[in-house]
Amino acid sequence: MEAHAVRLRGLRKSFGSTTAVAGVDLGIRDGEFFSLLGPSGSGKTTVLRLIAGFETPTEGGVELAGRDVTALAPFQRDVHTVFQDYALFPHMTVERNVAYALKVRSTPKAERRRRVSDALAQVGLDGFGARRPAELSGGQRQRVALARALVGRPRVLLLDEPLGALDLKLRERMQSELKALQREVGITFVLVTHDQDEALTMSDRIAVFHAGRIEQVGTPAEIYERPATSFVASFVGTSNLLDGESARRIVGAPGTYSVRPERIRVLKESASADGPGHTTVTGTVAEAVYLGDVSRFLVDLDGGGRLTVQRQNSDTSAEDVAACRGTRVRLAWHHRHTVRVPD
Ligand code: ATP
Repeated sequence: MEAHAVRLRGLRKSFGSTTAVAGVDLGIRDGEFFSLLGPSGSGKTTVLRLIAGFETPTEGGVELAGRDVTALAPFQRDVHTVFQDYALFPHMTVERNVAYALKVRSTPKAERRRRVSDALAQVGLDGFGARRPAELSGGQRQRVALARALVGRPRVLLLDEPLGALDLKLRERMQSELKALQREVGITFVLVTHDQDEALTMSDRIAVFHAGRIEQVGTPAEIYERPATSFVASFVGTSNLLDGESARRIVGAPGTYSVRPERIRVLKESASADGPGHTTVTGTVAEAVYLGDVSRFLVDLDGGGRLTVQRQNSDTSAEDVAACRGTRVRLAWHHRHTVRVPD
């Protein structure tokens, strides 16, 4: 049987008349980097707090490593939570912040010292032990919070938007560091984020939340390439959704379909169709935006509707892009990029 670090069964949580979590079943494997992804208010933080034990479910249960912990207090669960605001003790040095959990557990002093120094080395903070949190940058504070989490060697690390307070460049760097750290320590990481790029970059698997429920669980590639619902298709990346009349006209069948903007090629209107296996439509470029590495075009189709198309700027200047506005074009993509969305 597959080992599950975390298992959620029929989990529901209401706050008065608000249903934050509306029935969640989920298994997170041992050693996985797992993300709970969804828009604000979709219930992901509440699920994390239910795993940690800061909330009690209205219905359903939480298992950790095969043991039902639903009735246990947070400190009785083999998990550690890293919060967005880091929750460091401002009056303590970095070393004492990291050592705190070991001290509470009366770990002998020599071992405490060794483990604190190992944890600080793991997060790249050798030599920072004597500083106080106020004397550190945001990224360094985040690392202290991680070291403090790792030092207790929990079986599961719960991370609530841990990079949310950092600027974009630092966030990207910390994303790859966090992923590398997780590989190194082999602990199960459960990350809450509303940032789809972050989830796609770091996760082994992702659960996409919407209105208190999970809409899809899968690897980043599965979520991106084979969205299970139109919500997933539009929340994760940009998607052109074809349904109703435009599905019948363009795809030639009823239903809902998704085509990613980067899969569509922009050709001259006079260009011949791309051969068998391709869908082609004609239209007029309503908007053309140069974004540095890529350009984005909004194309009004002759038969009605609008498609978003994205193109790499390998050979294109900002002027070339601007000149496309108002021109007639043919759009083409291979049939395999028209993905049926089940709902
Ligand atoms: P965000 O990214 O904004 O944190 P989220 O997806 O993590 O959003 P939750 O924080 O889980 O969402 O909240 C889900 C719903 O439950 C929201 O409507 C929220 O207002 C409500 N909620 C959460 N905690 C409480 C609480 N302690 N009391 C009342 N309502 C709550």
